[in-house]
Amino acid sequence: MSMHKSIRTAISNLLGKRVSTTSLQFRLTVELIALSVISLMGVSAWAGWSMEQTVVNGHKQMLEYIAMRFPDLVEMYMETGGINAGIERTSSKVSTSDLSVLVKSADGRILAKSANNHDLSADLTNIGYNEVPTTPKVVQIGDRYAVMCGSALIVDGNIVGKVYLSQDITNEQRQLNNGIYGLAIVSTIATGVLILAIALRIRKALVPLQQMSQMASVISIDDLGGAKLQLAKAPDEILGLAQAFNEMLHRLSGSWEQQHQFVGNVSHELRTPLTVICGYLQSLLRRGDNLSVYQKQALETASAETERTIQMLQDLLDLARADSGNLQFRQDPVFLNTLAAEVAGMSEKVSDRSVKLLSTDQDIVALADQDRLQQVLINLVDNAIKYSTDPVEIQLATKDEQAIIHVCDRGIGISLAHQHRIFERFYRSDDPSTRSRDGTGLGLAIAKSLVEGMDGRITVLSKPNEGSIFTITLPIWNPQR
Ligand code: ADP
Repeated sequence: MSMHKSIRTAISNLLGKRVSTTSLQFRLTVELIALSVISLMGVSAWAGWSMEQTVVNGHKQMLEYIAMRFPDLVEMYMETGGINAGIERTSSKVSTSDLSVLVKSADGRILAKSANNHDLSADLTNIGYNEVPTTPKVVQIGDRYAVMCGSALIVDGNIVGKVYLSQDITNEQRQLNNGIYGLAIVSTIATGVLILAIALRIRKALVPLQQMSQMASVISIDDLGGAKLQLAKAPDEILGLAQAFNEMLHRLSGSWEQQHQFVGNVSHELRTPLTVICGYLQSLLRRGDNLSVYQKQALETASAETERTIQMLQDLLDLARADSGNLQFRQDPVFLNTLAAEVAGMSEKVSDRSVKLLSTDQDIVALADQDRLQQVLINLVDNAIKYSTDPVEIQLATKDEQAIIHVCDRGIGISLAHQHRIFERFYRSDDPSTRSRDGTGLGLAIAKSLVEGMDGRITVLSKPNEGSIFTITLPIWNPQR
């Protein structure tokens, strides 16, 4: 697993959900955690180093001082009994219970040795005489620690040998090690707590943004007017963003409304002259016995196109009325078996295709507007015929106080990307195979508007090249209510 992936998994586990590596939450968490870990580690390392300096520095300075003064002391004490006596006396004067002295001649003989519990000569054999530094340093000998140094002993300008000094600091070093160990544990715990606190804080800080995006993603074009982002508790910056978003929604809703009104008005104004034109064209066709084939064809095309445009204007007017709440619905008991049989029969006659009705023996009675429901069913069956070549089926069922009508075909189907949008106005699948079929892209938008006006729902289930099932769900009629 790559480093990136393992960091993402660790943070996902920490936050209890999957996070993307490009998300603000992930980046903020990683950056702040890295910053805190580096700072904590830096502070701990500095604290450890300064503890060591405090404990060891005093001993080092003392050894350095003794090493420097040793030849002077030898010179002073040798005046009474020669150089060897001087060395002996100096050694016994400077040595203490923890400070050991060993003086060796240039040919390796021991000239003086302090008489305390520490056998410096054995220690030096253990670590090697050549390893002893000239400036005092901490050296580990087995499980003991000592500050040691070794320097040439020059008396009266002659090199007499070498003097080794060793200060036992085992107790202090153990205390220091315990301190550093404790510091490491405390900083590890502090780092863990900090990581958890940072991750949770960032997660909490970003919750209002996630709420906003969830709310915004479910706002559809139809509920622009009433849509509002409401955040109970959020920082001022995010509340400001939500307010700006709400104001934008308000403006959008206003212009959407104006556009609808405009389309409604234009449809209304165009429908009357077009109906007159269509009437004249049809009367010309009926009475024009002396028309040439070309003229007849031209009039037929003009009449068909005018009729199609009038139908589209009517659809637009229906939608405009539905939008403004002026579309009235007469909610009555509707016998779905009878209605579906009528629609199937009519569609078969017009299209010359097979439209089967699969229903149970039991009557299914829905509460709906019969004419509008018929319009919707005709539209769905018409689409099923347009976009398939096999027989079309209408199935009726009931479920949980709901009447259900399925219109099924085994035609070209609709891809998932298009399924979300086919109920929008003028939306038609871009697939060239469907483009050639006539239509305006308004049928399903009207169907949705009408079904929702009858307190129902319309949905689609489809798979490309396998077919589509359009489902209308309506409240069932209950005589007791
Ligand atoms: P149109 O007038 O284009 O049929 P609709 O609103 O009725 O307009 O349908 C919108 C789009 O949905 C169509 O262009 C088509 O791409 C797709 N569609 C609708 N019904 C079906 C179906 N039964 N099978 C496949 N595609 C369909």
